Amino acid sequence: MSQNIVILGSTGSIGTQTLTIVDNNPELKVIALSANSKVDMMEEQVRKYKPLKVCMYNESAAKDLAGRIADTTTQVVSGMDGLIEISTMDECDTVVTAIVGMIGIRPTIAAIKAGKIIALANKETLVTAGHIIMPLCREMNVPILPVDSEHSAIFQSMQGMPKNRIEKILLTCSGGPFRGKTYDELKTMTPEKALKHPNWSMGSKITIDSASLVNKGLEIIEARWLFDTDIDNIQVVVHPQSIIHSMVQYVDGGIMAQLGTPDMCLPIQYALFYPDRKPMNGKRVDFFDLKELTFFEPDKETFLGLKYAIEAGKKGGSLPTVFNAANERAVALFLKGQIGFTEIYDIIRMSMDAHKFIENPTVEEILQCEAETYELIATKY
Ligand code: NAD
Ligand code: MG
Repeated sequence: MSQNIVILGSTGSIGTQTLTIVDNNPELKVIALSANSKVDMMEEQVRKYKPLKVCMYNESAAKDLAGRIADTTTQVVSGMDGLIEISTMDECDTVVTAIVGMIGIRPTIAAIKAGKIIALANKETLVTAGHIIMPLCREMNVPILPVDSEHSAIFQSMQGMPKNRIEKILLTCSGGPFRGKTYDELKTMTPEKALKHPNWSMGSKITIDSASLVNKGLEIIEARWLFDTDIDNIQVVVHPQSIIHSMVQYVDGGIMAQLGTPDMCLPIQYALFYPDRKPMNGKRVDFFDLKELTFFEPDKETFLGLKYAIEAGKKGGSLPTVFNAANERAVALFLKGQIGFTEIYDIIRMSMDAHKFIENPTVEEILQCEAETYELIATKY
């Protein structure tokens, strides 16, 4: 059966890997693409995939692209209205949310309201608006299929198992490039060093988040919503080889895990064809080649990103939004060389401490909290 897909963030790491899956599966048809501002790459994608619509978030990039592809039938839209327009197209079956950051909230909600299946990579959206998105998915009977590798592994480890017999989720974590470092050593880490992830090649924001363990913190909150579980039932296990992608422990002590090489193509493809498993070429795990699989406890007192995320996730309400927004801004400042690595933690702490808590924020209140967090950070940095 053919499936029409819309990709939010098609020029990024997850977006381009999704297009590789499309190349290998003729039953997938791309009907809309979007990106922020990479016009050259988007022009190539439009010529290759011939989508009905394309959204460039950035106005001037949209104008530039429209001029360049005037000879095609693809319609160019822009801004938040454009993102929402392509996420709700009648022809669309599945929206792949491969955009980075909480900018994904409104298009994701609009897609769910329009009854689209969500293949979710954009974890920031679930972290900040999970309390709105999950009930909405249930109301609309819309599946939300995880693309994040750990969450895909957890989801795969739940297939055919009784949901009420889960004891805990074991969320694996590579530990990132700075595993084993002290807090004083972390202070001196540069963007260049932080961008060198040992196992995964990803966009720059999530790569920094992996170095700070903020990513693992976001993933705990993401798992809490996707699998409707308490944060206390999610245990982070550092596993530097990234072969076990996560596990689920059941009440009889049995543990189901999903293993594989570190490659996002499998979780993306699994989400697009769930519950089927389609053939896929690529490297296989060779157990005779694997020297060892090792496991450690995470160091939450050094990698404060994890500690603060757990605090924000447990408190819930608007606090995960503040945690996430502060981190988004801090990572941008770090990448520009304007702050040191551990100042990411300082900015998150300052923002969480200053915040006036809202128990059950609406989308507007979430976006307001985001704006207030940015304003606060701008007064100091
Ligand atoms: P990336 O930086 O490589 O790509 C981000 C994409 O979003 C780009 O296409 C960019 O143009 C687009 N984008 C950014 N701002 C936009 C805006 N305002 N409007 C429209 N498009 C915009 O990021 P990535 O690594 O592909 O990550 C995307 C999401 O997937 C993130 O939420 C990340 O946490 C999650 N994720 C990524 C990986 C991975 O392996 N890369 C793994 C798990 C989860
Ligand atoms: Mg992940």
